Amino acid sequence: MQALLLEQSEGKTLAAVKTVASELLPAGEVTVDVEWSGINYKDALAITGKGKIIRNFPMVPGIDFAGQVRHSEDPRFHVGQAVLLTGWGVGENHWGGLAEQARVKGDWLVPMPQGLDGRKAMIIGTAGFTAMLCVMALEDGGVTPESGEIVVTGASGGVGSTAIALLSALGYRVAAVSGRESTHEYLRGLGASEILPRSEFSGDTRPLEKQRWAGAIDTAGDRVLASVLAQMHYNGTVAACGLAGGFALPTTVMPFILRNVRLQGVDSVQTPAARRIEAWKRLLKILPESFYQQATTEVTLDQAAEAATRLLNNAITGRTLVKIR
Ligand code: NDP
Repeated sequence: MQALLLEQSEGKTLAAVKTVASELLPAGEVTVDVEWSGINYKDALAITGKGKIIRNFPMVPGIDFAGQVRHSEDPRFHVGQAVLLTGWGVGENHWGGLAEQARVKGDWLVPMPQGLDGRKAMIIGTAGFTAMLCVMALEDGGVTPESGEIVVTGASGGVGSTAIALLSALGYRVAAVSGRESTHEYLRGLGASEILPRSEFSGDTRPLEKQRWAGAIDTAGDRVLASVLAQMHYNGTVAACGLAGGFALPTTVMPFILRNVRLQGVDSVQTPAARRIEAWKRLLKILPESFYQQATTEVTLDQAAEAATRLLNNAITGRTLVKIR
């Protein structure tokens, strides 16, 4: 089988598409013929070696994939069944989706929801799945379209784009924070009613600023998240899932103790099966058909490593889909 293989030489990560014997696939009950995968922020960090994502080499990256079951020792899955996978450390410490085959635990797989196909599932991918979890976190915090405006940071990335499309389809008014002027038309097309420059959020912030947002989905972290927290309405909820701007958080307790603000972390890797299934069902129901055309760049396995570099250089808009076969 063909696989994007990451190897290490003199402390550097080398990425190349190679022919690998299927017998080398890791242990697992289900072998999948992978049809589609994607490039997420974490994949980009792993492939370029810019982030310490992978500790054991050689590794096949790809934290998500969709395909058909080729062989199964798990009674829940049969040969030919369409499945998808996100998270569980696949593509980090277990060979992942950027290969023609993957072998994984049955517990990690989600049967393809009816009405979804592999291509659409990977346009959504880990990024879109995480965006749905963030929207659900806002709902859990009691945020409704009537509560007020929602701000989404890192707006033109995979998580941000899907979050805007979801929120807008659910009837929320959405403000998008983006560092790039070239993305404004795209963001309006997804449903953002207001676009704010990232520079407005990346400077120093006072502990409390004017109250602007009923909810927030933050993919940036660091000063951007600190600014967002200071601008939350009384009782607002922030769903924080990312660190595209850095992992620090230079904030104070003021938004929490004086404005009752809730900061809800969101992790997509270990999400329990029931919440996964609910999130995928809702993604399928809420996302408009136009989303799948608007938000996608498609590349081949040979082009995946270059796409990873472009993603880290903030030169990609929306989701990057990898056609494996
Ligand atoms: P993308 O690279 O597609 O999007 C990130 C976006 O962040 C960019 O498009 C850009 O948007 C913005 N950005 C880039 N650089 C900076 C910067 N220095 N400061 C502030 N904003 C910046 O990545 P994803 O959407 O796939 O992932 C976004 C984040 O969410 C990542 O940190 C990722 O690790 C995290 N994540 C977490 C998950 C979890 O389970 N918790 C799951 C999936 C992702 P613009 O140009 O519009 O400003």
